[in-house]
Amino acid sequence: MHTKEELQDKIKEIIKKLADRNPCGEGKINLLNRRYVLMSTDYFPYDLTRDLEEIFNAAGDTILYKGGKRIGRDLYEHYIHIARKHGIDIWDVIEAVGWYFGWGTGEVVERGENDGVYRIIVYDSFESESFLSREGKSESHVCHFMRGVLTGIVEGVEGKEYHGKEVKCKATGDEYCEFVIEHK
Ligand SMILES: [Zn+2]
Repeated sequence: MHTKEELQDKIKEIIKKLADRNPCGEGKINLLNRRYVLMSTDYFPYDLTRDLEEIFNAAGDTILYKGGKRIGRDLYEHYIHIARKHGIDIWDVIEAVGWYFGWGTGEVVERGENDGVYRIIVYDSFESESFLSREGKSESHVCHFMRGVLTGIVEGVEGKEYHGKEVKCKATGDEYCEFVIEHK
């Protein structure tokens, strides 16, 4: 496992190869062949999460996880082409674009070598900081959407169903968020 600073140095070298030179123009932000919008983590996903919890109780977490998984599988399809084109390992690309798009500084510390288990750590997850900025320290782990996205990417890589759990979370006072993703 690397420190956050070591990870960022590695990621910056990869991003130099992938980054778009002029992403903004004509009222649209285009990065790596897709359009984006910027939204403050003061609102997103905190407000959405709270509304889902109010309407669906605990099922709100599952909705975020399920939606995240679908996005994760799609992200795998999108980035595997970019990884192959540049000759970069898919997980190095995922770490780099996660950082580039401001999701957090992540490292895939186990890649299925032990019983197919993946272990991924993320410093400064946007989901945990969104929660912290509005409510302060949480009693429980909050990164349900991130957990879903990472699980979906693992499913894309492995071509089968996985289940992800968050075992550490910055929102509860841990140094980083940690996700364990296992074959179902
Ligand atoms: Zn977290």
